Amino acid sequence: MRPSLEHATARAVARARNGKSLSVDEASALMQASGDHLLELMSIASGLRELGRGTRITYSRKVFIPLTMLCRDHCHYCTFAKPPAKLDRPFLLPEEVVAIATAGARLGCKEALFTLGDRPEERYPIARGWLTPSMTSRSTSGTLSVSLVARSASDESAMMSLASLSATT
Ligand code: SF4
Repeated sequence: MRPSLEHATARAVARARNGKSLSVDEASALMQASGDHLLELMSIASGLRELGRGTRITYSRKVFIPLTMLCRDHCHYCTFAKPPAKLDRPFLLPEEVVAIATAGARLGCKEALFTLGDRPEERYPIARGWLTPSMTSRSTSGTLSVSLVARSASDESAMMSLASLSATT
């Protein structure tokens, strides 16, 4: 580390340790901290986290149920969305949802999280087709269908009520 950066980092770490507010330059110096400076910075950060949040760690055992992996968007970091050609069908069937929920419950999951892409029907005709009234009975699309499937999955898997519905952004 260059002497000037070493000095700036040491100074920024000392200010952080003493609870002083940091300038943009000091924060920038901390981002380049390494070695002992980095260890001390991590220790300071850990102490602050525990001050605010304590040391108790909680987690939720949940099974993810991808109602559809189609999405109208093109987020470059996305590892979830897939084009229709890579999927067996645009949406999960209700019985598939129940099967995933049941398998999750068997493995100890207490919640199910429904995941889906954002408005796939705006990009893919095949998704639009599945959302027409005559097709909704066979797919998990649509708020009513989702809530019915959620209830069904909950009843059949003894899973906690399935309330979370989130686009995977
Ligand atoms: S909106 Fe979500 S699912 Fe769609 S491409 Fe972006 S990250 Fe992926």
